[in-house]
Amino acid sequence: MALTVVGSIAFDSVRTPFGERERMLGGSAVHFALAASFFTEVRVVGPVGDDFGAEHLAALQDRGVVTEDVERVEGGETFFWRGHYEYDMNLAHTDETRLGVFGEFQPKLSPASRDAEMLFLGNIQPQLQRDVRAACRGAELVALDSMNLWIDTEREALVGAISEVDCLMLNDAETRMLTREPNLARAARAVMNMGPEIVVAKRGEYGAALFTERGLFAIPGYLLEDVRDPTGAGDSFAGGFLGYLDSRRVAGAQLEESALRQAMAYGSVLASFNVEDFGTERILRLGTGEIEDRLRQFKRITDFEVEPVRTG
Ligand code: AMP
Repeated sequence: MALTVVGSIAFDSVRTPFGERERMLGGSAVHFALAASFFTEVRVVGPVGDDFGAEHLAALQDRGVVTEDVERVEGGETFFWRGHYEYDMNLAHTDETRLGVFGEFQPKLSPASRDAEMLFLGNIQPQLQRDVRAACRGAELVALDSMNLWIDTEREALVGAISEVDCLMLNDAETRMLTREPNLARAARAVMNMGPEIVVAKRGEYGAALFTERGLFAIPGYLLEDVRDPTGAGDSFAGGFLGYLDSRRVAGAQLEESALRQAMAYGSVLASFNVEDFGTERILRLGTGEIEDRLRQFKRITDFEVEPVRTG
C-alpha cells in the first residue's frame, strides 16, 4: 500500500469574504497528501526553497507523510500563489503565481516512491507530470489533476499527460474547457476518448460526478454552515478519493464500481473539512473519529428510497 504524489508545495496568500492569511502552507501536493494520509502511506515529490522551514515539513511528517523526496533547493524560493474568492467560492481568482523552484525542477524519485502502486499527478506543469508518470512504471492506478492555466498555455503537453493516465480529476468548468464541450456528460466522454477510463468532475460545493464505462454516479457536497476558505478542496477531495482506494486495493484486481463510489464519499467528506478553515488549518487538527462521524451523517443525507407510483 503506497501512494506517491507530485504537485505544488506552496505558500498561499488567500483572501475570502471571511478573512485572509499570508503565506500559509499550501499547494496541491500538500493538500492532497494531508487528506490521503488518513488512509495510507503517502510520499510527496517536489522542490521547496530556503524559505520552507522545518515546521512546514513537520506538518506533513506529523501526519505520517514521507518527505524524503521533498528536495530543498539552495537559494531557491518556494512556489507562491496569491488568490482571492468572492461570495461564489467555487471560483478562485488568481492574483499572483511565482513558480520559484518549480521553474527548474527535475524530479528525482527514490525507489520507494517510484514503486508506489498509486500515483497522483497534482496540479503542476504538464511536462513535469509526464516525467513523473514515466518514472513510476509500476503504478497500477494513475490520476491527474490540472487547471485552467495549463489548459490555456500548455494544452498539447496536458493532453499528452492525460492520455497516459487512468483517471482524470478536474473541476466541471475545466473539463468543459479542456474538451471544448459545454455538456458535462459529453465532455467526460471526450476525456475517455483521450485515454482515462475514470473521469471525476469536481463541482465545488455541489459535489462531484463520476463517469466510467460502467455508468454514472453523482454525489452532493456535504453542506456546511461555515465555509471559510475553499483553497485546496479539490486536492483534499482527490486525497480522500485515492487514499481510500489505495487502502482498499487488492493487487492485480480490478477496481469495483462500489469502491469508486465509496471513494467519492470519502473525497467529499475530506473536502468538506478542508473548507471549514483557512489553508490546511482544519485538516491539521482533524481526527479519524470525525471523518467516520461525518461519513455516517453524509450517508444518511444521501441515502433515500422512493416508493414508485404509476405516473401518467
Ligand atoms: P485547489 O484544490 O484547486 O483549490 O488547489 C489549491 C492549490 O493549488 C493552492 O494551494 C495553490 O498553491 C495551488 N496552485 C494554484 N495555482 C497553481 C499552479 N499554477 N500550479 C500549481 N499549483 C497551483
